[in-house]
Amino acid sequence: MLSRRLLSTVLTLALAAGLTGCGQAAGGSMTAAVDGAASQRLSTLTALDQRVARVAQRLSEANVELCPAVRLAAGWALHSASQYSNELRPLVQSRFGLEGDLPGVLSAPPTSAAAEAGLREGDLILAVNGAALNTGPARIQPAFEGLAANIAILDGALASGAARLDIRRGGEPVVLTVEPHRACGYEVQLNPSDELNARADGRRLFISTALAGFTQSDDELALILGHELAHHVLRHRTWSDVGGAGREANEAAAVSGAGDKETQADRVGLFLTARAGYDTTIAPAFWRRFGAANWRVRYPQLRHASAEARARALEQVQVEIDAKRAAGGPLLP
Ligand SMILES: [Zn+2]
Repeated sequence: MLSRRLLSTVLTLALAAGLTGCGQAAGGSMTAAVDGAASQRLSTLTALDQRVARVAQRLSEANVELCPAVRLAAGWALHSASQYSNELRPLVQSRFGLEGDLPGVLSAPPTSAAAEAGLREGDLILAVNGAALNTGPARIQPAFEGLAANIAILDGALASGAARLDIRRGGEPVVLTVEPHRACGYEVQLNPSDELNARADGRRLFISTALAGFTQSDDELALILGHELAHHVLRHRTWSDVGGAGREANEAAAVSGAGDKETQADRVGLFLTARAGYDTTIAPAFWRRFGAANWRVRYPQLRHASAEARARALEQVQVEIDAKRAAGGPLLP
């Protein structure tokens, strides 16, 4: 997919959606509404969003030459006050300096174009190439479309190369120029869910908050996102690992060699993860731990082998990766 949205546009949807039901006004005051639990949940989800953004940015730039869809990207994750529930808006406005639909930087991963330009978490983007972004109307209900429209404007500017940004940092105006990087053209979406799952649908990669939280390191998270990215690299269109959109197409596919596709995605995914500089030697142990926590992963399914069989297969892929590294050639699957 060559998306007009930025890699992590949708990451922050999870943050907003996950919180929409929280913080109901207990005593009528904002202070009561934004209680300690909501604040803690916001911190947890922010940290997850930032981890996913960081790993996704690294994977998508390190593997750009293997991806069928490429774009120019800042590698940031953006959010806006308007996407949060009315009860939480005071909290996010004070914590992140957000205003209306204007995009705020939730994450500027260390090796991203955004970070190279000097952008930091907490910066509010006011204008691009001299054109003001839209603050939008006063909103009561959470809404994403205003932020999405601003992101489309930013994407359009970045698609042509370097873009000058007017930002607000701690109340002061700052001007920066972002020189976007070539990256795989896929969105990565963190979905609020208690299920341990991840999937790819031909345009986007999805990971649940539960699975992202289950991963104990960026190396483990990269294994999951690398596997999903492999479905894209292998052009497994309309693919879904655990239910969700495209289920019927996938079940049809399951009858015709879906197990092969999963085996391929495990193998290619480990290469993609290694190419991004993550430690892939942890993969077999991760799959055994994942299998112990999730019976659908533990036992063979229509679309994939048991966690133990996948762990053993990945040990062999690691041997292949080590041999290619030792030979000094390109690390290609
Ligand atoms: Zn898969």
